[in-house]
Amino acid sequence: MYYESTRGLKPKFNSAQAIKAGICEDGGLFVPETIPEISQEFIKDLINLDYKQIAYKVLSLYLKDFSEDELKDCINKAYDSEKFTSERIAPVVGINKIASILELWHGPTCAFKDMALQILPHFMVKSLQKTNENKEIVILVATSGDTGKAALEGFKDIAGTKVVVFFPNKGVSEIQRLQMITQKGGNLNSIAINGNFDDAQNGVKEIFTDKDFIEDFLSKGVKFSSANSINWGRLAPQIVYYFSSYIDMVKSNKIQFGEKINFVVPTGNFGNILAGYYAKQMGLPINKLICAANDNNVLSEFLKSGIYNSKKDLKKTISPSMDILVSSNLERLLYELTDRDSSLIRIWMEKLKEKSEYKIDEDTKRKIHDLFWANYSTEEETYKTIGHMYDEYRYVSDTHTAVAIDVYEKYVISTADMTKTVIVSTASPFKFNSSVVKGIFGEDKIKNKSENDLLSLLSVECNVNIPNSLKDLDKKDILHKLIINKEDMKKILTGIL
Ligand SMILES: *Cc1c(COP(=O)(O)O)cnc(C)c1O
Repeated sequence: MYYESTRGLKPKFNSAQAIKAGICEDGGLFVPETIPEISQEFIKDLINLDYKQIAYKVLSLYLKDFSEDELKDCINKAYDSEKFTSERIAPVVGINKIASILELWHGPTCAFKDMALQILPHFMVKSLQKTNENKEIVILVATSGDTGKAALEGFKDIAGTKVVVFFPNKGVSEIQRLQMITQKGGNLNSIAINGNFDDAQNGVKEIFTDKDFIEDFLSKGVKFSSANSINWGRLAPQIVYYFSSYIDMVKSNKIQFGEKINFVVPTGNFGNILAGYYAKQMGLPINKLICAANDNNVLSEFLKSGIYNSKKDLKKTISPSMDILVSSNLERLLYELTDRDSSLIRIWMEKLKEKSEYKIDEDTKRKIHDLFWANYSTEEETYKTIGHMYDEYRYVSDTHTAVAIDVYEKYVISTADMTKTVIVSTASPFKFNSSVVKGIFGEDKIKNKSENDLLSLLSVECNVNIPNSLKDLDKKDILHKLIINKEDMKKILTGIL
């Protein structure tokens, strides 16, 4: 199976080449030349399999140039029970007769990014071997919190790779900052930037587009790469849990085999929900994919109106992992829905770059409305949802998950659709504890308390266990102390590499 670019280039890359490259040289994203179709038998056969076995079945349809041993080795290293606190890896929890929650945060960093970033480094190493790459790979990450920590944890002590994470010193939560500056691993660096997330991201982009700088490092045997969600090696593993959760719904008798279900996905860069689209196209019985956004609602407005307008100020919300104006992975969906019209995609993406706006045709818009439903949750509504989920179901949801739940409630009111639904939960509530405590117990409860105080408060008051990886973060040694100005990112790289 070859991979081709959404902007028209067909370099005849296999999956190892696409994973190594990350993005295509024409600026487009790699997609498989065809989406593999599966039979009902294929799905039925998954019923007796565990997560790793399901992962093998699904991933082997896409990473065809990986041998069985190679692929199984990657899967076993990624989803082992020492790294994930739930043996089921991605458990489904019932809420009521209609709605269930798929928890994607039982990995080492307590956020859904682990589902892909635990396996991507292994794909990467194998891809380097398979393409006879002899350079050391340095992964550069600009992060607003979750991705940085998940990349550090995923690439920890992986031979032939290094990771340098840049995070805004005052732009991440205290828990997220502690997670990154106490990170162990000889090949890892976390560096704080005096500035915001955009400064960190612009700095990284600047490095990736500085040809002289890149050439200079190449001649020293160092190749820069990225671990962000446009890499096919991050998207493919996310298709797996749509299958595993469907199987869980069947096994717990919530649905009959073959019955269609909805998924609600808290969305930022459109990676997670796009994996759901792939699952549906493959043949998994999915009714609607419900896209949930926060106050940064550019994407949800686009799915409704067909007009993408990113001429807005980015707001800092209590669900920061979804604070995004340009959802990169949308390009892959548009490519499929326009029957792979790469010239149209190039025109739209050019407009987005030049004018921060483009409008799609009616036909594509209709296809979107058939597949998706979209809305957003305001800050106020998100807090309220955290509160009522606890009051009504004793379920403690993080802010991102609460956005999804609120949008699902809006969906039911608007459509009266009673199809069984899986709400995708993307972070442990402990990662965003101050907003969660405020949502459940009110503003007074968080006054004058540090995030560490709030960890234990949330645990005691709601009777839920603090994940081991978040315990005693404040007592761990601080291993990464660098705080730099944004102008100095290149200089620092030259120094540490
Ligand atoms: C990254 C992230 C999201 C958004 O996922 P996308 O694939 O970018 O749409 C949602 N919630 C959390 C907690 C995340 O870390």
